[in-house]
Amino acid sequence: MANEEKRPPLSKEEIEDLKADLMLADSLTRIENTLMILSGKGGVGKSTIAVNLAAALAASDKTVGLLDIDIHGPSIPLLLKLEGATATTASGRGLIPIRFNDNLKVMSIEFVMKDQADEAVIWRGPMKHRMIRQFIAEVEWGDLDFLIVDAPPGTGDEPLSICQMAPPRSQAIIITTPQKIALKDVRKSIRFCKSLGLPVFGIIENMSGFVCDNCGKLHQLFDSGGGEMLALEQGFKFLGKIPIDQRLVSASDRGKPFVLEHPASPAAQVFDQIVSSVIALSTPRMKKH
Ligand code: ADP
Repeated sequence: MANEEKRPPLSKEEIEDLKADLMLADSLTRIENTLMILSGKGGVGKSTIAVNLAAALAASDKTVGLLDIDIHGPSIPLLLKLEGATATTASGRGLIPIRFNDNLKVMSIEFVMKDQADEAVIWRGPMKHRMIRQFIAEVEWGDLDFLIVDAPPGTGDEPLSICQMAPPRSQAIIITTPQKIALKDVRKSIRFCKSLGLPVFGIIENMSGFVCDNCGKLHQLFDSGGGEMLALEQGFKFLGKIPIDQRLVSASDRGKPFVLEHPASPAAQVFDQIVSSVIALSTPRMKKH
C-alpha cells in the first residue's frame, strides 16, 4: 500500500456537489418522460407551445411538471398567470413547485428570486448548471408522467446543462416557423441534439398560415412547409402545423392556456394530435402502491 496515492480531502463545495448529484439521481427516478422544447431562435412560439402542451397533457389526466429554465427571460409565470408566486421550502427535500391545477406543477426562476425582473444577474455556466440541477433535484415534483422543459432559444448553457443531467427518456421537440429561412436555425438545433445524443421526438411548425375570421379559409402568410420538409429529410416525425390565431395571443396575455379556453379551434386540434402522438410514444408510469 506504500505507493497508494493519498487523495486530498474533498472541498466543501465538492461534497455539496456530490450530495446534489445523489439527490438528482433520486429525483430522476420519479420522472417517466422528459420533453425538451427547443427552438433555434426566439419569438417562434416555444414558450406558448410548452405551456399549451403541458396544459393539454394535464387535461388528458397525465401528471405534468413544467420547468422553465430560461434564466434570463422566464415567460412561463406570465403565460400561466403565476407572476408573484413564491416557491416555499418544504421540510423534507426542498422547494414546493407552484400548482397550476391538480395535474400541472410549475417551476421557474421567477418563483425563487425576488425582483428578478429588475436584477441584472450575471450568470456564468456553472451557476446556471447548479440552478437547473436544483430545479430538478431539490423540487418536490413527486411522480411525473412528463417533465416539460422550456429552454431558452438556441444552443447555450441551459439546454446543454439539462441534457447532461440526462433526465429519463428525454426527447426534444423542435419549434420552428414555416419560412424556409428558419431552417438554418432548426438545423443548428438538430446538430445540437445529435451531438448530445438527445433523440428528436419531432418538429412543430408554428404560425403556419392563419384562419380568416370571415371566410374560415386557411391563408399562408410566408413560404410554408419548411419544418415539414426538414422533418421528412431528417427522418423525424412532423408533429403538425399550428396556425396563427389572434385568440392565442390574448389567452397568453391573460395567463390562460389557449387549449383549455378554445378546445374546438383549429390550433387546439393540432395540439390534440400532438398530445396523442406524445402519449402514444411515451412510457406509461407504473402506478406505485
Ligand atoms: P418564444 O418562446 O419562442 O420566444 P413565445 O411563445 O413567447 O415565443 O411567442 C411569441 C409571441 O407569439 C407571443 O406573443 C405569442 O402569444 C405569439 N404566438 C405564438 N404562437 C402563436 C400562434 N400560433 N398564433 C398567434 N400568436 C402566436
